[in-house]
Amino acid sequence: MFDDESFVIKQDKFDPENNRYWESIMSTGNGELGGRGNHEEAYSGDSLDGRYISGVYYNDKTRVGWWKNGYPEYFAKIVNVPNFFGLDVKINGAELDLAKVSFENYLRTLNMKNGVLTRSFIYVDENKNKYKIKSERFYSYNDPETAVLKYSVTALDSSADLNLTPYINADVKNENANYDEKFFNLLSSYADENKASVNVKTRKTDFLITSAFTYELSKKEEKKTFAKKNSGSRVEIALASKINKGETVSLTKYISIYTSLNHKEEDLGPICRGHAEKAKKSGYDVLFCENAKTWSEIWRTGDISIEGDLEAQKAIRYNIFQLNCSYSGAKSHLNIGPKGFTGEKYGGGVYWDIEAFCIYFFLSTKKPEVARTILLYRYNQLGKAKENAAKLGLSGALYPMVTVNGEECHNEWEITFEELHRNSAIAYAIKNYIDYTGDKEYLSKYGIDVLVEICRFWASRVNIGNNGMYMILGVTGPNEYENNVNNNWYTNRMAKWCFQYTVLSLKKIYDSREGYDKIKERLHLTNAEVSKWGEIAEDMYLPYDSKNNIFLQQDGFLDKDIVPADKLPESERPLNKFWSWDRILRSCYIKQADVLQGLWFLDDCYDIETKKRNFDFYEPLTVHESSLSPSVHSILASELGRVGKAYEMFLRTSMLDLHNVNKDTADGLHITSMAGTWMCITYGFGGVRIKNGEVILNPVLPKEWKGYAFQLYFRGTVLKISVEPHKCRVEAQSGNEVTIIHNSENFKVSTQKDLEFTF
Ligand code: BGC
Repeated sequence: MFDDESFVIKQDKFDPENNRYWESIMSTGNGELGGRGNHEEAYSGDSLDGRYISGVYYNDKTRVGWWKNGYPEYFAKIVNVPNFFGLDVKINGAELDLAKVSFENYLRTLNMKNGVLTRSFIYVDENKNKYKIKSERFYSYNDPETAVLKYSVTALDSSADLNLTPYINADVKNENANYDEKFFNLLSSYADENKASVNVKTRKTDFLITSAFTYELSKKEEKKTFAKKNSGSRVEIALASKINKGETVSLTKYISIYTSLNHKEEDLGPICRGHAEKAKKSGYDVLFCENAKTWSEIWRTGDISIEGDLEAQKAIRYNIFQLNCSYSGAKSHLNIGPKGFTGEKYGGGVYWDIEAFCIYFFLSTKKPEVARTILLYRYNQLGKAKENAAKLGLSGALYPMVTVNGEECHNEWEITFEELHRNSAIAYAIKNYIDYTGDKEYLSKYGIDVLVEICRFWASRVNIGNNGMYMILGVTGPNEYENNVNNNWYTNRMAKWCFQYTVLSLKKIYDSREGYDKIKERLHLTNAEVSKWGEIAEDMYLPYDSKNNIFLQQDGFLDKDIVPADKLPESERPLNKFWSWDRILRSCYIKQADVLQGLWFLDDCYDIETKKRNFDFYEPLTVHESSLSPSVHSILASELGRVGKAYEMFLRTSMLDLHNVNKDTADGLHITSMAGTWMCITYGFGGVRIKNGEVILNPVLPKEWKGYAFQLYFRGTVLKISVEPHKCRVEAQSGNEVTIIHNSENFKVSTQKDLEFTF
């Protein structure tokens, strides 16, 4: 089962020049913690050695040139935690460091079916004797506080002295630190002949992180010493043994990672060490199987298969795999940073990416609790979002541009204070969740509070313009290559939508008598306030160009030189690397879907002709220098029947990291883009839309493929949708009857009754 080529990412040549790229690609995780694919042995070459735990952050003092009132004091950054996978290896006294020694047959494979990262090579010593090295490790998905490493050495030509020293090293720093400071202090460490641990505490934020390990050696060691070194920041158990010609010696390192997020501070050390010992009792094979079982359940409801294109097949699985490594939905104080656990860019904080992109994947491949957990994260931070709006002199709630604990961390005025549309994405995710799951209780209990405060924010941010309409001035839309513009169509349109949806939701709650009075009282809501929202929505100014019959990205957009992006010399792309910021701002080039993002979200408000006109105008001006861009274009292109374009955009998002398209994979993976890739197939090629508790399907098939199939977890039912040339088949693999709409015709699908239609 694990040999299936389409589930494996391989690196068969060691590539020290691009070591950081490969470390990113080979990242693994279990939704709560994870890290880059660093070598376990010492490595003195270029590397970003990193492991991260969701929710464990440090408040890094803000560093800006010109301080603007309202900037946050700090940027919360997810902490690079002590290295717990470390293992020093010496053979006949020579240190195994791939930057220094000779070796051949290097092979690193990431098995996406079970999240196991394997590496093997043949080490050639000074006397040309060879030793086969193999390492295998994983973060356990079913027990997120456990990780395991199995490392083996086989002496191929002669016997040798072997030293294996598993360790934990807390002398680790974040590369993205503003002031080159350490993010945690060592509290204590422990080592005995069987186990060792290190306790550290993050500075300022006081999170305790404890890592512990115990081990198992396949043969009795001849000598063992345990030690605390470097003032206790490194603990190790040094094992010396002889390895005979033809013999294999394996070391298994059972690792446990605890934090004060999940445990009381007292006794973290002993409990954590006990956890590692418990893992050892279970043994490697049991842990391996339990982890594999959890992953197989993940694939059961979340796989996509593609027939006739192995590269695309691997790419979509890679995207799905990394999404699952980054988030499991287990805890509402955790969320996903744009790079997951694969790098430090963006500080690991949460952006609108989660609501605008990632939530679709989690809604459709998991039980509803997972998406509900995503929503609760913002609900729990509502108080902080209100403080944030108040800081800007506004009412209601302004959710932060980037955050870990709800406080704003971003510090560029044109984004922090002006990229306000993130608020609407958070509101829109509530709608998506309720449409998808039918969980109305969420609306009256939690969602409505968020919606109301978002409306209050927008109502305090608009002003009446000369033409008597409501304006939103001085904003940055999704296209960050324009700043401080007036009336960004997307921002205004989505604010209008927020008012409309909130008013409608209040009405629904009122009609259903689901505690409307209590909500009114809880939120100090008056009828006058709600009718004002209706009025603002009605009179919201939405810039339009009647010559081209398009929505205008913002006031004055057409005053620019409009020249399609394909006329730009390749040598000047990406623009953000070659052009001055001033030139970018004055140009017509669009970083990511902006008007088109609105047409995708408000899909059913616009007809095909409107979508076509806007797509044809804006797509040629879009340079896709945000990884969030191609997927939206791909979905729209599929809907417009432009399957070739949709496929081109699909390839761009799905291969973004595997092919290093933006030349920045070394910094970490683009997790949001990965959610976009998933959407390109399901919402794009599959033509999925969820409306009124029903699933709409209008598939197309890219000519490069023979077929594809995906699962949707919809209201307790796992639907399998298989598309082949001109034919689509829908099966309910479990659960209740579901209504499927194709070409405006209704069909029922259940475990007893499949559906097949032609297109
Ligand atoms: C994009 C934002 C996004 C952020 C994090 C930026 O480049 O323009 O829309 O939220 O990256 O992914």
